[in-house]
Parts: sequence; structure tokens; C-alpha cells
Amino acid sequence: MTIKVICNRCGKEIDANTYSFSYHQQLGYGSVHDGDELSVDLCPECTDELITYLTEECTIPPLAEGDAV
Ligand SMILES: [Zn+2]
Repeated sequence: MTIKVICNRCGKEIDANTYSFSYHQQLGYGSVHDGDELSVDLCPECTDELITYLTEECTIPPLAEGDAV
């Protein structure tokens, strides 16, 4: 069974078995979005761009290198 997942950023359909980034969390206190639910699915290309962005913006690098697939 294939579940259709759409990339939030580019709108492209993502193969659920290969998509790179999926984040679903209800936001906690302290944010203006307190109580809202953040749901983000990204295709591999948009995941790479997000990581590039985060790496540039973060003081502490958010990415640790793992084994290449
Ligand atoms: Zn995308």
C-alpha cells in the first residue's frame, strides 16, 4: 500500500518510502503558535535546502553525519 505524501514546500508528491523529512508536533508554551500543530513533510531536494538553511542559521550545527545510504 502506498501512502501519498505531498512536499509542503514544492507541492511535489513524495514516495512515502523514500521521503526524507517528516515532522509533526504540537507546539508548546512560549511560542506565539502555542497549541498549534506543525506538520511538515519534505521531498529529498527540499530537505537538502532546509538543511543548508538551518546549517547557515544555527550556532550549533543541527546535522550529524551518518552512514551514506
Ligand atoms: Zn519539495
